[in-house]
Amino acid sequence: MEIYFDNSATTKMAPEVVDTINSFNDKYYANPSAMHRFGYLVEEEIKKATRVMSDLIGVSDKEIIWTSGATESNNLAIYGYAIAHKKIGTRIITTKIEHPSVSKVCERLAEEGFDIVYLSVDENGHIDIDELKEKIDDNTILVSIMYVNNEIGSVQDIDNIGKVIKDKNKNIAFHVDFVQGFGRYKINCKKSLIDFLSISSHKFNGPKGVGVLYKNESVRITPLILGGGQQGGIRSGTLNTFGIIGSAKAGEISYENMLKNNEKLLRFRDYLIDKLDNMSKKYDNIHINTKKTTGFSNHIVSVSFKNIRSEVMLHALEEKGIYVSAGSACSTHSKVASRTLDAIGLDKSFIDSTIRVSFGIYNELSEIDTFIEELDRLIPVLNIKKR
Ligand code: PMP
Repeated sequence: MEIYFDNSATTKMAPEVVDTINSFNDKYYANPSAMHRFGYLVEEEIKKATRVMSDLIGVSDKEIIWTSGATESNNLAIYGYAIAHKKIGTRIITTKIEHPSVSKVCERLAEEGFDIVYLSVDENGHIDIDELKEKIDDNTILVSIMYVNNEIGSVQDIDNIGKVIKDKNKNIAFHVDFVQGFGRYKINCKKSLIDFLSISSHKFNGPKGVGVLYKNESVRITPLILGGGQQGGIRSGTLNTFGIIGSAKAGEISYENMLKNNEKLLRFRDYLIDKLDNMSKKYDNIHINTKKTTGFSNHIVSVSFKNIRSEVMLHALEEKGIYVSAGSACSTHSKVASRTLDAIGLDKSFIDSTIRVSFGIYNELSEIDTFIEELDRLIPVLNIKKR
């Protein structure tokens, strides 16, 4: 038995995406930048894929930059923008719950003299719009706020945030990490006043190691990867042709099935939360960090089991063929305490005892029953307090 509940870390590629990539690779293996006809044919295919992505997020195809994934997209948007604008201002506003590919860039910029402001969040992981308004000053050049948090699933009111920023000063750039939102929420970057949007294909049943940065064409950035001048010189390097073709296919499929998938995932999330809620009447060490409201995404449930360390629970479940993640860790094996769980004010005794269950389109409701049965067996055995 194998139950994969780690879809926020990555997803299985859709069979249609695998087929598309395979047939593309057979036929279109020339370098899209080559000057000959064969290269030109590949370039045309890339243009089609770029048009698909740009249409999905409401931008022009000139505004799409293909990257190696959202880590690069976030680095390029924030670092590239900051460096290009440091003479205009040095304040960057972000939140305490961003992914490390945002927060680490901000830490680096702080070392280089930038004034980084971290917005607090409430117990549901939501920022306070008034705090954002207060913190925007004349020195502010950029605001970076994620759409869906990758640890607890909290969703920010991005439309309202965009309005607040641009009302204060239309020249402040707005970056949104949309990694956990793509395929679940429709977005129109122009309407939402977004200047940069980061997307990662492997989070919506596309290939790994490829992503997108949407960059408003009127906004200037300093390139971070220099070389042959591909993608208008903003991101040099031979394009990941099959990754791009696969991303566009995955994007298309996820939009086609969005309604159906969202209903299914929501049912899963609410079913699991109800089951955990029930269990918490039996065991007093359970704390559910995700709520059944619209302020949370439908695919993530974060739950803490006091006295059972995350990795202990993770490996005990793994023994049973159930894969979840410890707190956040979609990227490393490190044991850094979760900044998100700390920021929502979770008691220290719960923070290191948290697991993240994240659903995907290939899960079944019955898998949640199996998971709950296993938890029911494991909790009394693993709870060190009881021994
Ligand atoms: N931002 C968020 C919110 C994420 O969840 C992730 C992936 N864990 C990233 C950025 C980084 O994406 P990638 O794996 O494509 O580098």
